[in-house]
Amino acid sequence: MFAVGACLVMSACMGVRFLKKRVPGIVYVVDCVDTESNAFNYYRYSQSLNMNTFVPGYLIDQTFETAWRDSLTDSFGGHVKFTWFLMTIEGYRHTPQGINAIPGRFLEQFKDRVLSHGDEVAWHYHHADWCWDEQRQAKGWKLIRTFSDSVYCEKTDRRLAFDQMASFVYLNRVYPASFRSGWNWENTDFSNWLDSLIPFDYSNNWPDIDLSVIAYRPSRKNVFRRGSLSRQVVRCVDRPDTTHLRALFERASAGEDVIFAYYGHNYGGTNRKNNALKTGAAAVQHILADLSNRYGVAYRYCTASDAISQYVGSHCPDSFGLTVAKNCDDNTVTVAFDTLVFGTPIVCWELYNGSISADFMTPDSGQHRWVYNFTHTNVMAFIVAGISRCGQSFLSEEMTPCR
Ligand SMILES: [Zn+2]
Repeated sequence: MFAVGACLVMSACMGVRFLKKRVPGIVYVVDCVDTESNAFNYYRYSQSLNMNTFVPGYLIDQTFETAWRDSLTDSFGGHVKFTWFLMTIEGYRHTPQGINAIPGRFLEQFKDRVLSHGDEVAWHYHHADWCWDEQRQAKGWKLIRTFSDSVYCEKTDRRLAFDQMASFVYLNRVYPASFRSGWNWENTDFSNWLDSLIPFDYSNNWPDIDLSVIAYRPSRKNVFRRGSLSRQVVRCVDRPDTTHLRALFERASAGEDVIFAYYGHNYGGTNRKNNALKTGAAAVQHILADLSNRYGVAYRYCTASDAISQYVGSHCPDSFGLTVAKNCDDNTVTVAFDTLVFGTPIVCWELYNGSISADFMTPDSGQHRWVYNFTHTNVMAFIVAGISRCGQSFLSEEMTPCR
């Protein structure tokens, strides 16, 4: 016994690197849910949204059952977690439920259980406008593939996305740390915009990126290349594939930490027995437990932002403090942080006519200071919001502009 103990201590002193190599990595597991209305007709301008998967006792509600969560356990005794990517699209604005239909309903019903189960709330955005579809020879809420100040319907593509983000933040008082793009669409202009806003992007299910790439920071010139932008783009597959999972466990057994992220939808669930989310998560658990045994590798259920933070080894401050000050002399608002901010903080405001919009703040003199100059005259209220590199969000109190 003594010899074994001495040997362990010695090798630890002699070479941490040597020891580290032999320690298997961890497989971080992220269950993503694109949370949408399950029967949205993309070829109708206006319609009432079908929200039947939100009904108490049905699909989403069932995934919060403690007994079921407890039945899916990782190597550390933790339980399955979901990251809820709540969908917004311009088309929802034209429904009776309104622009905040999904986030509003979801948070109202499940916010407490999101917190108690350690889930995460994130943003899922479909970049679409009401425009002509050549193939169907009809107008529809169609994916628009530009982010270049082009106008399709009422406003530019950039304004469309920024107003959706603003509404998400302002109406829910939630600043998302993680993002998934609708239809997995991104282009470089969109990526550059997103890079000022959200630190973790789980949109990569792209054929342009090698399947072995777990996370990367994209290039400003090409979202599909590695570069020096700030956010982490994480591979997130559309179905759990055993070959892909086996490859990840093999890498972990050789000492590398890896992320296995996959996404599903809150579809189905029109009866109590048909729950795609529960069946999917249980099937994944089965494969994970099997591979974990075979490779001697531990897996851990994580939220999207936890998984990538641990993967890149972020050193996160315990708290993320800020001071907001309004200056009526020049109608500005300034914000000072006690640490580095991810990207650029934003000001979100609501006009008296109910429309919600946002803009980036600009750097002010002094460290970690930002300023915004209000030029709009009919702002009713506003908030300042942003996020740290670790995904810690901050939202100011609601303020009113100077008169
Ligand atoms: Zn979607």
